[in-house]
Amino acid sequence: MDFSPGVSYFFGQLSKAFFAPGSHASLLSLAGALLIALGFLFVRRYRKGRRIRVKTMLRALFPRHIVTSKSTLADLGYFYFNIFLFGLIFGWALLSYEVVSHSVAEVLTAAFGARQPSALPAYVYRTAITILLFLAYELGYWLNHYLSHRIAFLWEFHKVHHSATVLTPLTNFRVHPVYMCVFLNILALFIGTANGFGDYIFGQSTRQYVLSENNIILVFFIYVYVHLQHTQLWISFTGWLGHLFMSPAHHQIHHSRNPAHFNKNLGSCLALWDWMFGTLYVPAAEPEKLEFGVEPDRPNAHTIRGELIAPFGRAALLLKHLVERLPQAAPLPAPEQKRA
Ligand SMILES: [Zn+2]
Ligand SMILES: [Zn+2]
Repeated sequence: MDFSPGVSYFFGQLSKAFFAPGSHASLLSLAGALLIALGFLFVRRYRKGRRIRVKTMLRALFPRHIVTSKSTLADLGYFYFNIFLFGLIFGWALLSYEVVSHSVAEVLTAAFGARQPSALPAYVYRTAITILLFLAYELGYWLNHYLSHRIAFLWEFHKVHHSATVLTPLTNFRVHPVYMCVFLNILALFIGTANGFGDYIFGQSTRQYVLSENNIILVFFIYVYVHLQHTQLWISFTGWLGHLFMSPAHHQIHHSRNPAHFNKNLGSCLALWDWMFGTLYVPAAEPEKLEFGVEPDRPNAHTIRGELIAPFGRAALLLKHLVERLPQAAPLPAPEQKRA
């Protein structure tokens, strides 16, 4: 059996993930996150008048109990699994972004008539569509995340992400393929609709600004703090900033086992949608004591059986209970017996 196409596909995906500058796992963005984390620790220790030593800083960034945790090992497995699978899942998305976008533009044209191509300079409408698509991405992300927490069936597949007991940038990739599939379809719907709307308004097909096919504003956030959301570093935005942006502390609150924090901070880079829909929890400036994970003593946490396969069984059981509770059709009356 020839495995070489699979092997070259895997290495192709891996090099795209690490070396495409706009990728979610680019080495450049990870280096950026590391620099910001070092800067944060430096300032914190300096303000407290503590000695600044490289060894202490490295120990604070990579604590042994996190690096050697079973949870981190599972995150690593998920990272490789999803790098390999992502291209394939992408093809599973039932809704296509292009089809949605085209349909929305056509419906608007049929309803309100065709518009003349915009006379504005290209950078103006390209900037507008870049912002619009970023907001649509964030709203789609929020809705998918909200549904994943609120619908028991979907929660079974999202729980995998929450079963991490320590957070590292790799935890970002700890997602179940079913979660990813639902997410991509919801994104196609939101981004496709926004793009079709933009095309109609500007009277022509308008392209957003991208880096390695990723929205440039999203890439900015990946470089600045998305990686730090899955760390133990309490970098918190408070006040008005905390109402607009999802700081690392916001997302750590999202992973907390404290019931007061359940179903809060569902956004990706922005806190704006959480604020609007009442799911925002602005973290304090000083660190809160948090524990992460969902079921601390689950025997199969961090294993393939417990995290990839078991969610199918639990979700099927939920569906079965749901079907059983549906009102049953009334039995037909027995035909009257003919008298002899
Ligand atoms: Zn969640
Ligand atoms: Zn997370």
